[in-house]
Amino acid sequence: METAKRIQNLPPYLFAEIDKKIAAKKAEGVDVISLGIGDPCEQTPQHIVDALTREANDKSCHRYPSYFGLPELRKSISKWYQRRFGLDFNPDTQVLPLIGSKEGIAHIHTAYVDPGDYVLVPDPGYPVYHSGTILAGGQTHFMPLTEENEFLPDLNAIPTEIADKAKLMFINYPNNPTSAIATEGFFEEVVEFAKAHNIVVAHDNPYSELTFDGYVAPSFLSAPGAADVGIEFHSLSKTYNMTGWRIGWAIGNESVIEAFGRVKSNIDSGIFNAIQKAGIAALEGPQECVDDMRAIYKRRRDLVVAALGKIGLHVEPPRATIYLWIKTPEGHTSASFAQLVLDKAGVVISPGSAYGPSGEGFIRISLTVPDERIEEAVARIAAQL
Ligand code: PLP
Repeated sequence: METAKRIQNLPPYLFAEIDKKIAAKKAEGVDVISLGIGDPCEQTPQHIVDALTREANDKSCHRYPSYFGLPELRKSISKWYQRRFGLDFNPDTQVLPLIGSKEGIAHIHTAYVDPGDYVLVPDPGYPVYHSGTILAGGQTHFMPLTEENEFLPDLNAIPTEIADKAKLMFINYPNNPTSAIATEGFFEEVVEFAKAHNIVVAHDNPYSELTFDGYVAPSFLSAPGAADVGIEFHSLSKTYNMTGWRIGWAIGNESVIEAFGRVKSNIDSGIFNAIQKAGIAALEGPQECVDDMRAIYKRRRDLVVAALGKIGLHVEPPRATIYLWIKTPEGHTSASFAQLVLDKAGVVISPGSAYGPSGEGFIRISLTVPDERIEEAVARIAAQL
């Protein structure tokens, strides 16, 4: 059977491929340690699990949820934005709950990208920005994130004819996979660029709460005029160890939220109401659990940075995210090094090239496994190098 042309250029999903490699190694009897995906190993805080268990027994949750999320969840998200960033958004017109932010990132293209339109995508970047573009029949223009430019896109390097044909631009700080943070003035620059070229900006912000050393990450929507040009994606996945629950949101520009909601209400039927109510418990309940996670990731970050330093792999400790972005040792491509580490040490790391062409020369390590497994992984890598 012939597949649609639109999926013929769609690469296999990075982490699905990594899962296959892990399964194959495990079948060979290898004790694989995966530092590949950013999937927290700690459990979701108990008060959130309790809220789900309670609500799952309420039969009003068993029917179709609202297409646009429970009004009380939208209110809760809006209050969280006020508390966290000092920003006010109308919960009825500027907030749209999502079945995880990945779902929303893949569907926003449907609202804005016609065949042939350009989408500006960070390179390296979260793979769904590009695959959503392919699925919409659009064309990706990669914006290289280089070390020299502090892993920020150089907006002046985007050719004017492409900028003029671009409909959508993704940015993401704190950044996956480079763990870079937005420098002062960067978001303002993006707003000006988007206004000049009539582009919708989608800032992806799932790591805003996972910051260290006193750094507090801003919202893109704090930049003056940002809500005129775009939205922000956010998620409960990483902040509250809820990757399996599938709940996130988009917030910001009213007309973007309306168009996006129109697309989604024709595709899906919303998030299980009990999960939405547990989401409210996450946003409004005690927040010490988030401090605990920050402390855990900081400890693991320091442990890995020190251990890698001893074997000549130097990396500056990042101030945010759950990743380390490390230069590939001389004589290897990022893919050959990742393969070597898997074959020799039974440790999965992500090759930078999998996040886009400019990711070549780097590998990504995720800090989402227990300390003793991370220590063992680094010891195994050291033994093999
Ligand atoms: N955006 C970025 C940058 C991510 O790293 C991830 C997950 O790793 C997501 C979005 C998706 O998160 P969610 O679990 O909300 O779909």
